[in-house]
Amino acid sequence: MTLQTDRILVVQGDITRQHADVIVNAANSTLLGGGGVDGAIHHAAGPELLQECQTLGGCPTGQSRITRAYRLPAKWIVHTVGPVWLGGNRGEDELLAACYRSALLLADQHQAKTVAFPSISTGAYGFPVERAAQIAIAEIAAGLETARNLERATMVCFGAATFAAYQAALEQRWGAGRREM
Ligand code: ADP
Repeated sequence: MTLQTDRILVVQGDITRQHADVIVNAANSTLLGGGGVDGAIHHAAGPELLQECQTLGGCPTGQSRITRAYRLPAKWIVHTVGPVWLGGNRGEDELLAACYRSALLLADQHQAKTVAFPSISTGAYGFPVERAAQIAIAEIAAGLETARNLERATMVCFGAATFAAYQAALEQRWGAGRREM
């Protein structure tokens, strides 16, 4: 299942199977692995990833760090720390936007042409997915516009409900049936 504009693609699938220059991980602030997509990425990349993450000293919420991708079909992994949803009045929207911005910037600085994102913060961290999807699509569109190297971004949704939310956000922004950005 896919929906696409020229530069943003929404797919349903497993991000560890995506071929992209950069795979984004929804990490926690220790960067030492966890459940959900973080666990899947560490499992697929292999133990060398944890060794490299141990040298980084963690990462604050809203920021990103980059590592090699080891056994993943990617060049780099950008680890970003999404906000925990605390009801919406604790800066969650801005922190989530900062995740996408900082991840796109790091990817672009490393000459990536393609980047794949999971749905940051909408699993264990409880961010409402429709709201997260609108923020994600807006920030990805803005980031691609100013990037020097990035050409395309893929939102990799792990399930039908998440896919529907990102599909709706993309359609809302560009109109159903439009295929250009
Ligand atoms: P967070 O703590 O940021 O909420 P989670 O990993 O709990 O992170 O969830 C973020 C999103 O990643 C959820 O939509 C979850 O279903 C999804 N997810 C889990 N495993 C994978 C995977 N292998 N590929 C893509 N998305 C995944």
